[in-house]
Amino acid sequence: MLIPAHYELMERALSNDKDRESIKSVANEIRLLLNPHPAGQQEYNVPEIEGHRLHGLQHKYRETVLFFPSSGQTCHSYCTFCFRWPQFVGIDELKFAMNETELLVKYLEAHQEVTDILFTGGDPMIMSYRVFYKYIEPFISDNNKTNIQTIRIGTKVLAYWPYKFLTDEDANDFLNLFKEITSKGINLAFMSHFSHPKELETAAVKMAIMKLRSSGVQIRTQSPVLKHINDKAEIWAEMWRKQVNLNCIPYYMFVERDTGAQPYFALPLVETWNIFRKAYQMVSGVCRTVRGPSMSCTPGKVQILGVGKIDQQKIFVLRFIQGRNPDWVAKPFFACYDENAIWMNDLKPVFSKKFFFEDEAELIYEEKCTDSGIHSFE
Ligand SMILES: *Cc1c(COP(=O)(O)O)cnc(C)c1O
Repeated sequence: MLIPAHYELMERALSNDKDRESIKSVANEIRLLLNPHPAGQQEYNVPEIEGHRLHGLQHKYRETVLFFPSSGQTCHSYCTFCFRWPQFVGIDELKFAMNETELLVKYLEAHQEVTDILFTGGDPMIMSYRVFYKYIEPFISDNNKTNIQTIRIGTKVLAYWPYKFLTDEDANDFLNLFKEITSKGINLAFMSHFSHPKELETAAVKMAIMKLRSSGVQIRTQSPVLKHINDKAEIWAEMWRKQVNLNCIPYYMFVERDTGAQPYFALPLVETWNIFRKAYQMVSGVCRTVRGPSMSCTPGKVQILGVGKIDQQKIFVLRFIQGRNPDWVAKPFFACYDENAIWMNDLKPVFSKKFFFEDEAELIYEEKCTDSGIHSFE
């Protein structure tokens, strides 16, 4: 999956009989060339409270904070297309993680605009019940002073280890905790990664979904479009239909990010959009809760609404689903048609030198880099 230049570097290191350490350092050199932190994650999204930078938190969009609990930074399995690959390659400076919930809770108490906390990783569902409970406790305790109304868990557990909720020792503890959370009026959502309908076919996954649903858990589904894996409209239509039949809610279709093995998995944006469009046409409205194709880039989540035409000239029609400035959201904007473009930075505005949000985005990045890093959207 390496591009030829990187492959040659590694090939040379291996054939020169280098020692383990030098091979590792060649691997790390290559890793650093693979854009380990796309979308300005390390520079612009790190919040602060009482002078502490919270490296295990990302606060990019007003309502939602991403939380990387330090105990949730491994996975059930490692996907070759994972955009969070730096979490797993043993270069600590590249890793986001946070140990303590105390600072997290302080941050959330001070930021009442945050309604959603998204536990992510790695995979938070790698945690045992006892560890996981410690992270959840503040939100169900009677002294909870945060404004958290939704707890989301980004996970591939249903596809990779549905036994977590069936036969694992602490399966029932988890299900009971989920009941307790949801009976407090908190929305508990599994942001469940399924990249192929096959992952929805086992008896185990069906049973696990049923058990979660009976504990009040909402299951929303998402995946990137991946060459060699799910790059056909029929696959997506079947996957959404199967998800809805199992009472899961299709949520996002993503564009493979500009990191890691992107050259191996990415498709041109036009092709991705065609897969979305054709699949969307094949299913009924209940499956069309899905939004996409969506690029998570530095200014926000950009949706490819499609290819339009003005005066015989093809153009991309885009919009923000999420923006660093909420005011950018849901305003259509345009980019020159380019059949080879695979990511936002390949796109050029049509009617002006810059996209409408660019100047303001620059100001936001400057502010985030130079001073506290605390997001202020006032
Ligand atoms: C996608 C995303 C979210 C959640 O956005 P929703 O549209 O509410 O699902 C939050 N933070 C970051 C950094 C994201 O990429």
